Amino acid sequence: MDKVCQDRKENAVIIDISDIISCENREVTKEVQLELTSFVSRLGRFPITEKAPVFLRIANQDNRRLLIRGSVDVTVQIPCGRCLAEVFTPIRFEIDKEFKISDSAICGEEAEETDYLTGNILDVEKLIYGEILVNWPTKVLCSEDCKGICKTCGRNLNEGECGCSKTEPDLRMAAFQDVFNKFKEV
Ligand SMILES: [Zn+2]
Ligand SMILES: [Zn+2]
Repeated sequence: MDKVCQDRKENAVIIDISDIISCENREVTKEVQLELTSFVSRLGRFPITEKAPVFLRIANQDNRRLLIRGSVDVTVQIPCGRCLAEVFTPIRFEIDKEFKISDSAICGEEAEETDYLTGNILDVEKLIYGEILVNWPTKVLCSEDCKGICKTCGRNLNEGECGCSKTEPDLRMAAFQDVFNKFKEV
């Protein structure tokens, strides 16, 4: 119990929704300033370079449903899938969650499956973390025609040609070229 009270003081993104679910048609809008400075997933750690405050609307609808709505707009630094240059990638999406209310309590499968709603405590940061994960871009490129990096020497080909042979390195071909180069040296 003490733990929850402490968290609530230190962290503005923890919202107690008791008042909302126990009061028919009550609606509250909270401005939430995200504390996340980077996004960590199994893909790595990505700095969040920009984040707009999230206006979260939490509404009790006829004592039957709890609605949680809001817009998220963050910019995350993600490496280009071809050349690894950092790309400032906007991730924008709408939050639209709905839970059943019964006897002034959240209930139903949806409530049991979430990690951001525990009893009457809504952890906005956890909610948004999960939503960023769902909305994560599948492919990030610095530009549509990014040339990538040379597989042989590692040079970023957007910065210029590297002079490596254009053909895919092939073991037999490489052996042949070795012989050819030796022949030239003689
Ligand atoms: Zn690139
Ligand atoms: Zn090269």
